[in-house]
Amino acid sequence: MLEKKTWKQAREELRRAKVALIPVGSIEQHGPHLPLGTDFLTAKALAEAAAEATGALCTPAIPVGLSEHHRQFWGTLWVAPEHFRGYMRGIAESLAHHGLRRVIYVNGHGGNLAALQEVCRELHLDGVYALVWQWWHAVAELEREIFPQFGSHAGEVETSMMLYLEGESVDRSALAEAAAGGPPRWGRQLFGTEVSFDTVDFSESGATGDPQRGTAEIGKRLFRAAVEQLVGLVRWLESLPEEALRPGEHKP
Ligand SMILES: [Zn+2]
Repeated sequence: MLEKKTWKQAREELRRAKVALIPVGSIEQHGPHLPLGTDFLTAKALAEAAAEATGALCTPAIPVGLSEHHRQFWGTLWVAPEHFRGYMRGIAESLAHHGLRRVIYVNGHGGNLAALQEVCRELHLDGVYALVWQWWHAVAELEREIFPQFGSHAGEVETSMMLYLEGESVDRSALAEAAAGGPPRWGRQLFGTEVSFDTVDFSESGATGDPQRGTAEIGKRLFRAAVEQLVGLVRWLESLPEEALRPGEHKP
């Protein structure tokens, strides 16, 4: 972990590592049962495990992202998208300055995705190959195998992950309330489009799905499968030739 190293120790790591992992999440409501830091805690745990397995460099986790749509729930924090983009880009640029031009944003919060993808596209123009990786996409098949139906936010899957990683931070006494006050899935769709702006528009408890079905054992399976995927991505990114880090040449 970079924050525990001196600059001389960091120099060794930066010279040795070929890929940087930047965990990023949110401080936002996750129903009455999960902690506000669910997304960044999950991203941090996954990134650290993958860094350990591959020798990739892991930066400190960035806790606050784009969560304005949870504003009616106490404790949710957010920053403006332009600040978030600039900040996330700046971290990758400083890593590139030290010679690391292969970056994976290990994103724990879906609301950050569009902004991070924009940042990745900009970085690529400057010769930095940056990608966004999201654990719930990486293990989507396994999720559907375990839960044919589930709620994405603070539902079966996220609750399982937190029971495994941070069991003492899960309020099990609120699981029934979370399930009773949440719709089966995220959002409110009418006539083929999303018609809600904020979570409170469709979820009383802030959760979705039935978090009562989550278990630490399922969380462990999902975590291990996700780390495997992330390790694979790190190895792939390591293997890219230097010339692939920026866009290809124009056709003759
Ligand atoms: Zn979440």
